[in-house]
Amino acid sequence: MTEKTVFTPWEVEGVVDYEKLLKEFGAYRVTDELLTELKKHTGELHILLSRKVFYAHRDLDLVLKDYAEGKGFFLYTGIAPSRSTMHLAHIVPFVMTQWLQEKFKVNTYIMIPDEEKYLAKKASSLAKVDSLVEQTILDIIALGFDPDRTFIFRDREYIKHLYTAAVVVARRINFSLAKAVFGFHGETSIGLIFYPALQIVPTLFEKKRCLIPYGIDQDPYFRIQRDIAPKLGYCKTASLMSILIPGLEGIKSKMSASKPETAIFLKDPPEVAAKKIMNAFTGGQPTIKEQREKGGNPNICCVYQWFRILFEPSDKALLERYEKCINGELLCGECKKELAERIKEFLKKHQQKVKEAEKIKDKFLYDGKLASRMWNWEFDYASLRE
Ligand code: SF4
Repeated sequence: MTEKTVFTPWEVEGVVDYEKLLKEFGAYRVTDELLTELKKHTGELHILLSRKVFYAHRDLDLVLKDYAEGKGFFLYTGIAPSRSTMHLAHIVPFVMTQWLQEKFKVNTYIMIPDEEKYLAKKASSLAKVDSLVEQTILDIIALGFDPDRTFIFRDREYIKHLYTAAVVVARRINFSLAKAVFGFHGETSIGLIFYPALQIVPTLFEKKRCLIPYGIDQDPYFRIQRDIAPKLGYCKTASLMSILIPGLEGIKSKMSASKPETAIFLKDPPEVAAKKIMNAFTGGQPTIKEQREKGGNPNICCVYQWFRILFEPSDKALLERYEKCINGELLCGECKKELAERIKEFLKKHQQKVKEAEKIKDKFLYDGKLASRMWNWEFDYASLRE
């Protein structure tokens, strides 16, 4: 990262140097050898892995070892509603988590921190956050999670069960460390200073190793977890980290609710989404003639990146698109149209699944196999060595 880069779970500014982040965060590249090991259990690789969108990890090797030895593991992820319902960039960690759940048949905990963005002053009011929670939960369910192996919970509703463990965790994080890791300052609300303790709690829901897929900007929480968990008799959490997922204004841009034209929301009418794609930043030349002569640059093209991330399952077809682009055989107009069609299809199907999710949401929240067990979960603090 450059010196001017701001990099916390709430803010990312400046150019991100992913290689340098690995060193700074003490994380490792996802190697081909590690993916081969994973594939022994899953039989195939999701494109988010084979294309290294999830490019970094911590202890994924140990997760696989635990699994091979029959100890198992569990998954945890989440999303904090702030200004909008979910957009395409938000679903990437959930798509990864759902795939891992399906392949390994493991329990999955999904936190909806309905206080975090309010405390971070990224949401205008608690009422605004509340208005987004229901749709967020339905969007997550619609991605295909197993109702008996998934527990989705909102912090403010489930707090009675989280609070004791959060107190135990919070006592072990001093303010100097929190300031250094999260960039807290004099204007930070005191609620936000406590919040990281809550976010760590689900990693203690089971005594097995916890694997968390997330965008690398969320890493600070889980580095702290790794200092605390062994002292409490729990496993250090393992991570699978993705690059920051681009918006439509350039590969360094983010999808943002404050600029709705840069983001494809899962609720967008498919035709509206298609229009946004047609206006996306590409790596194309200013004129057709120049495109034919010089070719485009897929490496800086948002359209190409979205094919790569989620919308081109075939490696062969992706490579062909890349080559045709750089050779000037492909024009941006047709390329954007193809992506727009795929995204329209995806949204139509997703919006239908959301309607179906409505009927089964209580299984995820309250009465599925895992959810009903979790409403009786209490943190076992009595046996801790304080
Ligand atoms: Fe991007 Fe496609 Fe244009 Fe190439 S042809 S720059 S991949 S939009």
